Amino acid sequence: MCTICNRPAVIHLKHDGTRLCQQHFIHYFEAKVQGTILSGGMIAEKERIAVALSGGKDSTALLFCLHRILSGREVELVAITVDEGIAGYRDDTIQAAKAIARQIGVEQHIVSFQEEYGCCLDRMVVGRKVAPCTYCGVFRKHALNRAARSLGADKIATGHNLDDEAQTVMMNYLKGDFERLMRLRPRRVQRGLVPRIKPLRSMPEKEIALYCMLSGIFFQSRECPYAGLSLRAEVRDMINALESQFPGTKLSTVKGFERLAEEEQGQWAQMDLALCRQCGEPCVGERCKACQLREEIGRPSEKH
Ligand code: SF4
Ligand SMILES: [Zn+2]
Ligand SMILES: [Zn+2]
Repeated sequence: MCTICNRPAVIHLKHDGTRLCQQHFIHYFEAKVQGTILSGGMIAEKERIAVALSGGKDSTALLFCLHRILSGREVELVAITVDEGIAGYRDDTIQAAKAIARQIGVEQHIVSFQEEYGCCLDRMVVGRKVAPCTYCGVFRKHALNRAARSLGADKIATGHNLDDEAQTVMMNYLKGDFERLMRLRPRRVQRGLVPRIKPLRSMPEKEIALYCMLSGIFFQSRECPYAGLSLRAEVRDMINALESQFPGTKLSTVKGFERLAEEEQGQWAQMDLALCRQCGEPCVGERCKACQLREEIGRPSEKH
C-alpha cells in the first residue's frame, strides 16, 4: 500500500522504504527531477532548451517530464533527433521520437550522419577496429552541438540517468582517465560549446521506465545492435550485478565521485577549448575529433 495515501503501491523505494501508488510516484519523480534542475541551476527563465531526443525511454521521459514541470514558465523546449543511420534500429526510434514531439507540441529537428558527414554509421564502421560507439559518440556530440547552436539553444538537455552516470564514472576509473572523469563536471562555459545539462542524472533507469509506463507515453525499447560491443555494456552488467547484491551501489559510485571532484577541482584547471580550424567547432588542439575521424573514414577501411 502507498505510504502516503493507502492506494495500491506500484513501487517500493529501497533507499528509504517508501511505497508509492501511481499518482504519488509520478509526483515524486517529477519533484525529484525539478529538485535536480533547481539545485544544479540548470534552467533559467527565457532560456531555449534543446532536448536530445532519440525516442528511447530516457530522452522520451526527459522531454515529457520537462514539458510538464516547465509549463507555466518562460522556457522554450525544442527537440533535436540525431539519425546515425543504424539499420533495423534507428528508424523505429525516430518514429517514436516524432510521436512524442507531436503529442506534446514540441518543435523537432532531425539531423543525420548521412547529410552531415556524407556517410551513415553502418557504413562508417565496416571493417574497422575502432568500436562503433566511438564513431557514434564523437559524431553525435558534434552534430548535436552544431544543431543546438544553429537553433539558438542556451542548453542541451540529455537523458543520461543514474545508471549511465555510474557507468561513466566506473569506466573512467577502469581506464585510469582522471582528466575525462573531471570533465563530467564542467565548471565554466566554453566558447562555441552549448552547455549540457542532465536533469535525469539522479533517476535510476528502472524508475524512468516506470514513469514512461505510468504516464502512458510510448518509447522504443529496442537496443542498438552495436551496444553489446562496448566496454559500457560490460560495466553496466557488472554494476547491475553489484546493485542487486548491494542496493545503493550506483548512487554511492556517483556520490563518491562528486565528493572527489569537489575536493580535487582546484588541482585540475579546466582547459580552454580552441575552435577547430576545419569546421569551427570547439575542440582540444587544432582539429576536432569529428574532423579527424571524417578524414579517416574517407580512406579505404582496413579490410579493403
Ligand atoms: S550503442 Fe553505441 S553505436 Fe549504438 S547508438 Fe549508442 S553509442 Fe551509438
Ligand atoms: Zn499514494
Ligand atoms: Zn572539426
